[in-house]
Amino acid sequence: MKNKKIIYIIIVLILGLTVFGVTKIFTKDNNEEKTENKPSTTSSTTVTTTTTTSATTTTTTTTTQKKTTTKTTTKSTTTTKTTTTTKKVEEKTEKEDNGSLAGTSSKGYEITYKNGKYYVDGYLIVNKTYKLPSDYNPGSLDSKTKSAANEMFADFKAATGTKMWAQSGFRSYDTQKSIYERYVRRDGQKGADRYSARPGHSEHQSGLAFDVCVTGYSCISSGFNDTAPAKWLDANAYKYGFILRYPKGKENETGYKHESWHFRYVGEELAKKLYNDGDWITMEDYFGITSKYAD
Ligand SMILES: [Zn+2]
Repeated sequence: MKNKKIIYIIIVLILGLTVFGVTKIFTKDNNEEKTENKPSTTSSTTVTTTTTTSATTTTTTTTTQKKTTTKTTTKSTTTTKTTTTTKKVEEKTEKEDNGSLAGTSSKGYEITYKNGKYYVDGYLIVNKTYKLPSDYNPGSLDSKTKSAANEMFADFKAATGTKMWAQSGFRSYDTQKSIYERYVRRDGQKGADRYSARPGHSEHQSGLAFDVCVTGYSCISSGFNDTAPAKWLDANAYKYGFILRYPKGKENETGYKHESWHFRYVGEELAKKLYNDGDWITMEDYFGITSKYAD
């Protein structure tokens, strides 16, 4: 008699739970149909809600719900490549806009990769290690670079009465290719690599660098080193956001011989730090990155 009573209670319980479970499943199916056409962020929120619900209901329901949850999760994975909450989906999207993390420099700066270009701490980096894509072609000098250069040239003219200009600014991948190949024919690859960049590795392709010439002075050659205008540039370029990209005695860091005529725009803040009261710090040293060809 006692056993019968217990069996009866169990049957009622099972029936009750089954009805509850079935109702839940139907409710869930409806929810799922509704969320299917919604953007992935919404379906991600549904996943979180479902998990909480299934945890509080019975074992039978949980098993069924788990199956449904997995289904929903897979859906959001294909569209957004994340699995959990809405917040995470948003964070991921923002990260992708800033490029992907390519590594960390030896001095702890983030190296990011975006649209085929490398940035260290947000600064575009072009040297022997980091190259630009062959189809990257801004077509001319970057507008900020151009206006800062014009300001510098005007101030130089006012101070000395002599004309200074950017003789070589933006250079395309193809132009660099023919220049480099010509130098290789003349000096061999090892020799050319000391002063000319291989295609894709030239800062001129970035539109952020240029070579200056000054009336009456040797142009884009070592004959310009230590001249009065070279000294003026060395002491003043940082005020306009430029750095002397290849300082004297830093060939092992930059990968290039000293060039007193080549300047790179980085903005006034970083330029002042790298100027270092006249004792130039290279981008390579400051950020802790290399400048070496892989082969
Ligand atoms: Zn140059």
